[in-house]
Amino acid sequence: MIVVMKPYASQEHVDAVVKLIESRGLTPHLSAGKEVTIIGVIGDKSRLEGQNLEVFPDVDKIVQVTESYKLTNRKFHPEPSVIHAGSAVIGPDTLTIMAGPCAIESREQLLTIARAVKAAGATMLRGGAYKPRTSPYSFQGLEEEGLKYMKEAGEETGLATICEVISAESINAAVKYVDMIQIGTRNMQNFNLLREAGQSGLPVMLKRGMAATIDEWLNAAEYIVAEGNPNVVLCERGIRTFETATRNTLDISAVPVLKARTHLPVIIDPSHASGVRAYVSPLAKAAVACGADGLMIEVHNNPACALSDGPQSLTFDQFETLTKELKSYAALSKRAF
Ligand code: PEP
Ligand code: MN
Repeated sequence: MIVVMKPYASQEHVDAVVKLIESRGLTPHLSAGKEVTIIGVIGDKSRLEGQNLEVFPDVDKIVQVTESYKLTNRKFHPEPSVIHAGSAVIGPDTLTIMAGPCAIESREQLLTIARAVKAAGATMLRGGAYKPRTSPYSFQGLEEEGLKYMKEAGEETGLATICEVISAESINAAVKYVDMIQIGTRNMQNFNLLREAGQSGLPVMLKRGMAATIDEWLNAAEYIVAEGNPNVVLCERGIRTFETATRNTLDISAVPVLKARTHLPVIIDPSHASGVRAYVSPLAKAAVACGADGLMIEVHNNPACALSDGPQSLTFDQFETLTKELKSYAALSKRAF
């Protein structure tokens, strides 16, 4: 942290800042220019808690030089993390493909989709049992019954499983049935839920809030890791912009930005990012080419009759074509798939 004094700050006011920094057991590093003096603060800045330096006389501004997220920060953990979820491995050497329906609609529907995505090369089965829908009148999910189908589909196919959670109650149910939990865009800053997810013992995929900055997203991930759960994966799923041609705007630049800032793996969800089936495949390829560690793709046995997100769901044939085409992208990125 750096304290920038106002031009021509009095010596008395510079001394007051230095004295306070020293009194908290920190080391001030003074750099006196012709007009402006800046004071570097070396040490654990949490020792300044409750002491607002901005209000000191002649202090112009405080500049933070390290981010508030520490455990998720690549500066303090240079090696990329590898996360295990059931039989799946998510990290720099693999391409993880999570695929399945937006919502679990029935036992037969889920088993049919699980078998098809497994045959096409998916590594994880996704499916919503608790659906955070925009309208309270839309299908809200099968809840625990859906989780039971997920467990059965995972056991039969060998696919690792992931389901979204929306409350402490749904986390308590999910731990009994699935390998990984997902926190959706609408709950990215539900801090109590993040803490609960951190205590769940399961790996967590944290989707980006639709209007969240990358800094806010990494701070949200920090909530989970701070509870003692280092197994966090980030998922970019599109953000709200002025563009209406797609449901959201896929922030592809989030991939290299996250790779620079954090050691956590990064998944791209081209389905929710675009909202349009025809755009899913090109965006998926762009994500892999750009360094994503995996993809989350919605697939349905009959998209025209899906209870949610039919327009963006791939058919079995389309998903199979995509996974075939992704092989060369995975090879270029030196990832096992
Ligand atoms: C989902 O993956 O089913 C979902 C609801 O996604 P998001 O939170 O990104 O909208
Ligand atoms: Mn969906």
